[in-house]
Amino acid sequence: MQCPICKQTVSWEGNPSRPFCSERCKLIDLDNWLEERYRVLATIDVADESTEQGPTTDTKGERD
Ligand SMILES: [Zn+2]
Repeated sequence: MQCPICKQTVSWEGNPSRPFCSERCKLIDLDNWLEERYRVLATIDVADESTEQGPTTDTKGERD
């Protein structure tokens, strides 16, 4: 099997860092995951701000 980070072929048996080849790759993956999550949250935050000023009352007035 291959480590998802460095693509190095590793043996799974007796490996405490599965599915990664080492603790280092495990940390790299965690780091990537946190960075991605942070980026998603930041994007949502920005989008939220623009919708808050969006035409919520405007649409209502159009229907009346
Ligand atoms: Zn690795």
